[in-house]
Amino acid sequence: TRLANQIAAGEVVERPASVVKELLENSLDAQATRLDVDVEQGGVKLLRIRDNGLGVNEADLPLTIARHATSKIHELEDLEGVTTLGFRGEALASISSVSRLSLTSSDNQSGAGWCVQAEGRDMEAVLLPAAHPQGTTVEVRDLFFNTPARRKFLRTEKTEFSHLEEIVKRLALSHFDVGFTLRHNQRVVHALRSATTEAEQDRRVATLCGPNFIESAVRIDTQTDELRLWGWMGLPTFSRSQADLQYFFVNGRSVKDKVVNHAVRQAYRDVMYHGRHAAFVLYLELDPKGVDVNVHPTKHEVRFRESRQVHDFLYRSLHRAIAEMSP
Ligand code: ADP
Ligand code: MG
Repeated sequence: TRLANQIAAGEVVERPASVVKELLENSLDAQATRLDVDVEQGGVKLLRIRDNGLGVNEADLPLTIARHATSKIHELEDLEGVTTLGFRGEALASISSVSRLSLTSSDNQSGAGWCVQAEGRDMEAVLLPAAHPQGTTVEVRDLFFNTPARRKFLRTEKTEFSHLEEIVKRLALSHFDVGFTLRHNQRVVHALRSATTEAEQDRRVATLCGPNFIESAVRIDTQTDELRLWGWMGLPTFSRSQADLQYFFVNGRSVKDKVVNHAVRQAYRDVMYHGRHAAFVLYLELDPKGVDVNVHPTKHEVRFRESRQVHDFLYRSLHRAIAEMSP
C-alpha cells in the first residue's frame, strides 16, 4: 500500500496547484458555496482550504484519508454518467502520503466536530474532537517533505503560486454561485462574492480576466436541442497578454480539447483574424452521456460521442458571433 500510495501520489500530486484542485473539487462535491483558500510560500509550506459544505461525520472522517475511500463508483457503468468532479477516491490518501495533512469537519450546526491527522507514509491517522462550524477545513503542510526528489522539481514560489491561482481562477469561472477567497502569504489575491445576476457575472469575469477583456467582449448564448454554448468572446487582439485568455468549459469542467480547439481556430481564421489572439470564456453544455470526461485523471481531455456534431455547432456559433463583432 505504501508503494501504491506513492505511485498514485505521483499521478495526482504533482505540485501545490494539483493539491488545491483536488481539495477544491472535494469541497464543491460537498456542495460548498464558500471557499477560502490560504496559501503560504507558493503552497509548499501551507495550503488551507475551508468550505461550508456538508461536512463529514465522526465515523466517516478516518475513511476520507484511507485508500479507496470513495463511495461514488460501485459499478463501471457509473463512470458513464459521472457529473461530479472527482471519481478516484484516493486524492486525500495520496496527498497525505506526501505531506502533513489534517482534515477538520463538522456535519451539523452544533459547532463541534472532529479532526483527523496524518503525516507522511505511515498512515496511522489520529482522530480528535475539534470545534468547527458545518463544513470542512483541510490543511496540507510541508508538501513533499518526505519526497525530496519530487520537491526538487518544484519551481519558484511565484511560479507555483501562479499555477495554483490558475486553478482557482478556472473553478471560479465555472462556479459563479460559489464565493471564493484566495490569500497568499496573508495577502488577499482574490475575493469573489457569489455572482448570480449577469452584471455580477460580468464583474467576476472582469476581476479574473481583466477589464480590457470584458470591455471588448460580447456575451453569446446559442443553443440547439442538444447543445448550448454561452459565455464571453473578446475581440481578437494582437496583444500578447491576452494570448492565454482562452477558457473553455464542458459541463462545468475546464477542458483543453482538439475538437474544440480546431473549431475555435477555424471560426476565427475564417473571419480573417489571422495572427491575432483570440480571447474567450466559453461554456458548452450537453447531456453528460454525450461526453466522456474521464479520459485521463489529470489531463483536461474529453471525448465527445458525436464529435462531428459538436465541432460543427461550435464552428457555426462562433463564426456567426465573430462576424457580428467585427470592429
Ligand atoms: P473522492 O473525492 O474521489 O471520493 P478523495 O480522496 O478526494 O476522493 O476524498 C475522499 C472522501 O472524503 C470523499 O469521497 C468525501 O466523502 C470526503 N471528503 C473529502 N473532502 C471533503 C470535503 N471538503 N467535504 C466533505 N467531504 C469530503
Ligand atoms: Mg476528490
